[in-house]
Amino acid sequence: EPKAAGPVDLTEPHLRETLAMAGLDVEYVRAEHNTLYYLDENGEEVPVVDFTGGYGSLLLGHNNSQIVARAREALDGQVPVHAQFAPSSHANAVAFRLNEILRRELGSDEPYFAIFANSGAEAIEAAVKHAELDRVMRAGVLAAQLAAHAEQARAAVSAGTAEVTAGALAQLGLKEGGVAELLAEAERRNAEQMARPPVFLALEGGFHGKLMGSVQLTHNPGFRTPFSALATQARFIPLGRRGAVGEALAAERAVVFDIVVDGSEVRVAERDLPVVCALLVEPIQGEGGIVEVSRELAEEIGRECQAAGCPVIVDEIQSGMGRTGSFLASSSLGLRGDYYTLAKSLGGGIAKNSVMLVRQSRYRREFEMVHSSTFAKDAFSSLIAQKVLDILEADGGQVYRLATERGNKLKSVLLALREEFPGVVKDVRGRGLMLGLEFTDQTSAPSETFRGFAQAGILGYALAGYLLKRHRVRTFPTASAVSTLRFEPSVYVSDAEIDQLAAALRALCEILRDQDEARFFGS
Ligand code: PMP
Repeated sequence: EPKAAGPVDLTEPHLRETLAMAGLDVEYVRAEHNTLYYLDENGEEVPVVDFTGGYGSLLLGHNNSQIVARAREALDGQVPVHAQFAPSSHANAVAFRLNEILRRELGSDEPYFAIFANSGAEAIEAAVKHAELDRVMRAGVLAAQLAAHAEQARAAVSAGTAEVTAGALAQLGLKEGGVAELLAEAERRNAEQMARPPVFLALEGGFHGKLMGSVQLTHNPGFRTPFSALATQARFIPLGRRGAVGEALAAERAVVFDIVVDGSEVRVAERDLPVVCALLVEPIQGEGGIVEVSRELAEEIGRECQAAGCPVIVDEIQSGMGRTGSFLASSSLGLRGDYYTLAKSLGGGIAKNSVMLVRQSRYRREFEMVHSSTFAKDAFSSLIAQKVLDILEADGGQVYRLATERGNKLKSVLLALREEFPGVVKDVRGRGLMLGLEFTDQTSAPSETFRGFAQAGILGYALAGYLLKRHRVRTFPTASAVSTLRFEPSVYVSDAEIDQLAAALRALCEILRDQDEARFFGS
């Protein structure tokens, strides 16, 4: 039989084939609360309980009725969705609300300015760009000071009011010479330092997006290294070693020489040149396998970065928006960001929206003239974000309490499995509704099937396929730790849904314990 001409799928056919291998190529036709529906061969809806939660965008569930109502209202009212370069009270109201919340959680009155964007990676890139603009401007001020001081030194020597000491010359490795030689050497050395490209510090295991710049801050080499030539690369800091942040900052420290007149002497002073653009940190690593940053590391980051003048970008794209029981996961770690990035649930599950927040003391208004997007800061997504924040903050923070309470319930189920199946469940991690369950290494498992999946690096996907097909439970592994299943349902997840997950995971653990391929494949 001749085949139909041309490909049948023009939207990522390879990805679809890969999902099909694990039985995950199911198209959903409807969604509400924590449930996705697909159609069976008779056209009947089949419900699937969704623990994937749009990878974090569905804290308030699929098609939340209050959010949908707000969207309808906005469109029915003919709100001007795209009216760029005009004041937007809708976006400003979001920024105000975010500031109120940050004030409460950080215990500080310093305002944060908001730059809106459309996706998580875009908010990260906006934060990084802003930090780089700030760094370049600071370096520019320093360069101007050095030039002014050099001029003063030259003038003082030629007027005979000051002279270059041997010590000053020796400091720059010169044996002889006068002010001209000293200045030339300082300028030569300084120019070398000033030409250094910026450096980013990020944590091993971290994930900050997959755009050209942000993917270089994402640790996973599979995502990052094919594109290394496109953008500045990060220096990655291990999570578990004390002192690693200070060491990284010290290793990247750059010093320039300032030739100053001090009384009757021309002296050489050392000045720090800002080379490290920013340090990025997720308070709970999502794609890295649901790994919490320790209090000690958070404290070290705060202390060392402050001492070095290095801005901290706290990436709350997955952990924020109330998911872990507070608006920011970092606030309970005592970590204070110069920048915050938020996305995912800010869009209420229906809009594409993200924002980066910069504290006032770091803010550069010049950024507003050099950064924008057609779609950012639009009225539609701003109205949705307002509604999301209203829901989060209603009843004294009922959603935050729910995230904690539902999260504890879900976690206790996962911990019980770890207890019962120590040979199968390696670890259970996370906080609130950001939880992960890591399976033990199956690369030398007795079963050829499980061993094969593990060796191919797709064990988590294969296990997710089983949970979907046999138990109508949708979960996915995290992007960079593929033996860890992630659970990020909405705060409205019910006891029955948690029980359904528990039964499904229990059946899976029994299969893995018994290495029972027949049961896995459903015979
Ligand atoms: N940062 C973190 C912490 C994330 O979890 C993600 C998405 N998984 C991103 C950035 C990138 O967001 P987006 O997919 O919207 O670009």
